[in-house]
Amino acid sequence: MPPPRVYKTAAIVLRHRKLGEADKILTLFTPDYGKLDAVAKGVRRPTSKLAGHVEPLTYSALLLAKGRELDIVTQAETLEPLTPLREDLERVGRALYAAELVDRFTPDRQESYAIFRLLLETLRRLAIRDDLDLVLRYFEMQLLHELGYRPQLDRCVSCEAELEPTDNFWSAASGGVLCLACGANEPMSRALSLSALKVLRLLQRSGFADAARVRIDRALAQELERHLREYIRYVLEREVRSIGFVDAVRRQKATRAKGRAAEAGTGR
Ligand SMILES: [Zn+2]
Repeated sequence: MPPPRVYKTAAIVLRHRKLGEADKILTLFTPDYGKLDAVAKGVRRPTSKLAGHVEPLTYSALLLAKGRELDIVTQAETLEPLTPLREDLERVGRALYAAELVDRFTPDRQESYAIFRLLLETLRRLAIRDDLDLVLRYFEMQLLHELGYRPQLDRCVSCEAELEPTDNFWSAASGGVLCLACGANEPMSRALSLSALKVLRLLQRSGFADAARVRIDRALAQELERHLREYIRYVLEREVRSIGFVDAVRRQKATRAKGRAAEAGTGR
């Protein structure tokens, strides 16, 4: 159903870009209308009343007026500022990544309340929790499910044999897990540990609270991230830009930690 001439909606601001002298085009994700672009006039002026309510990664209530091409934001009020998502670099990168995935994967004006809710819950978690990577892995698996790209994790995607409780193979191109025999014949497949398979199943089937209870060491976290990134790159047919940001912040943090360890080691 097309929205009326003037309409209210809640919206998560996915991104913005400049328009003309003082305006911006916002890309919004809304519960009832899906993703849409709207113009926020004058928000680059210091006196703008709208500006603080339409920053990327803000959750706001908006009043929109139908425009000839793009709708126009006439009023905005922040519902949840989600401030850490714009201040703490580790959170910033991951929140931008979640917003970018939703932006890239969803067509304009196609309602998906499930994706709206998933994104909002993910941003709330990224704003306050410490297990940021687990939050993202859960988001990725649930988003793939909502989009109809759910990886097959029970049977071999090729021969349909039930998977043995052992190391198997992961194949983005095949759409999930390959058994030992099939995986060996698929040049693009990668080793998938049994622990990773178990966590992937948990991420796909459980609520977040159950998924968040699982203990994941660093090697396993890296394996999960590698497999899901590859899968998403394959489905999207392109790189996700904000991954570079997440990795750069992580490298910086590792370097700082090494520096601190070296200082402690020399007794300073
Ligand atoms: Zn097989």
